[in-house]
Amino acid sequence: MINIILLGPPGAGKGTQADILVKKHGLVQLSTGQMLRDAIAAGSELGKRVKSIMDKGDLVPDEVVVGLISERIDKPDCKNGVIFDGFPRNVPQAAALDKMLEGKGLRLDKVVSIEVPDEELYKRVEKRVRETPPEKRRSDDTVETLKNRLDVYHAQTKALAPYYEAQGKIAHIDGLMTIEEVAAAIDQVLFPAGGGLLGWLGRLIEGRK
Ligand code: AMP
Repeated sequence: MINIILLGPPGAGKGTQADILVKKHGLVQLSTGQMLRDAIAAGSELGKRVKSIMDKGDLVPDEVVVGLISERIDKPDCKNGVIFDGFPRNVPQAAALDKMLEGKGLRLDKVVSIEVPDEELYKRVEKRVRETPPEKRRSDDTVETLKNRLDVYHAQTKALAPYYEAQGKIAHIDGLMTIEEVAAAIDQVLFPAGGGLLGWLGRLIEGRK
C-alpha cells in the first residue's frame, strides 16, 4: 500500500498525473474538487452550499473536505493505496489528515510537489479557454478565477511544502517537463529503481545514515 499527495497549483497537471498513476499502479484517486463537483451535479444540499464558493475559486470549509475524505478512504477499493489530489489545501487540513490516517492505522508515504510558475499557469488556462468549448470546460476554469485560485494557493497551500519538508516526505518535480517526463519523474520518486537485493541494500544503508 502507498498513500501519496499530489501537490501543486491549479493547472499544474495533478489530475493528469493522478490518472496515469491510477492506470499504471491501481491506486485510487481521491479528488476533493471532483467530489464537490459531483455533489453539485447531483443537486445535493452540499452541492448547493459549495457552488458559489467554488465558482469564485475560494476554499470550501475544512470540515467539508475532511469529512468527504474520511468517509471515502474507508471504502474497500482504497486498500491498495490512494492519491490525494487537491487535498489538503492548507495546514489545518494537513494536520487533520495526519490525525485521520493515524486513527485508521494508515500512513502518508510521500508528497509529490509538481512545480509550475504562475505565468505558465496563465498561459495554460488561456489556451484551454481558446481551444475548449465552454460546455466542456469547468465553470471555474477562467483567467479571472485562476487569479483568485492562485492567490489562495500562495496564501494557504504553499505552506504545505515546509509542513511536509519537516516530515521528510516531500519531493519536488519540475512541472514544465512533458506529461510523460513528469510521470517518469514521479515514478522514480514513488518506486525507486532497484527493487531487488541492491535496492534493499540501498534502503538499508540509507536507513543507517
Ligand atoms: P480542484 O478540482 O482541486 O481544482 O478544486 C476545485 C475547487 O473545489 C477549489 O477551487 C475549491 O473551491 C474546492 N476545493 C477542492 N478541494 C478543496 C480542499 N481540499 N479544500 C477546500 N476547497 C477545496
